[in-house]
Amino acid sequence: MNKLSFYLSRNFTFDAAHRIIDYSGKCENLHGHTYKLTVTITGKLKSDGMVLDFAILKQIVEENVLERLDHKYLNDVFENPTTEIIAHWIFEKLQKPFEEVNCSIYEVDLTEGVNNKVSIKNERRSE
Ligand SMILES: [Zn+2]
Repeated sequence: MNKLSFYLSRNFTFDAAHRIIDYSGKCENLHGHTYKLTVTITGKLKSDGMVLDFAILKQIVEENVLERLDHKYLNDVFENPTTEIIAHWIFEKLQKPFEEVNCSIYEVDLTEGVNNKVSIKNERRSE
């Protein structure tokens, strides 16, 4: 029989300004983006019919990530705020809070502007 896994995702957006360091091109100048963030977690289905209440997923991401990044100058938070570095930071910031509610973070998708997306997946997760 196939073993099924549950993945829960929620979308978020935030706006922030940055400039890329040691880069020759338009992005070395101060500018802003709307970032789209999709957080995917995985965990066991519980007796209440949920893996995790989406309201808790939302709260964890807002408290640990969005409050620190939304409408901020990202160079105050990161030495060099590329999409990859921001996505990696988000992944690490969310690991522990989701473990505390018996879930694990599976994927972070971060889209900068309209067209550029970075995905980080926890490939080692296996059950
Ligand atoms: Zn940029």
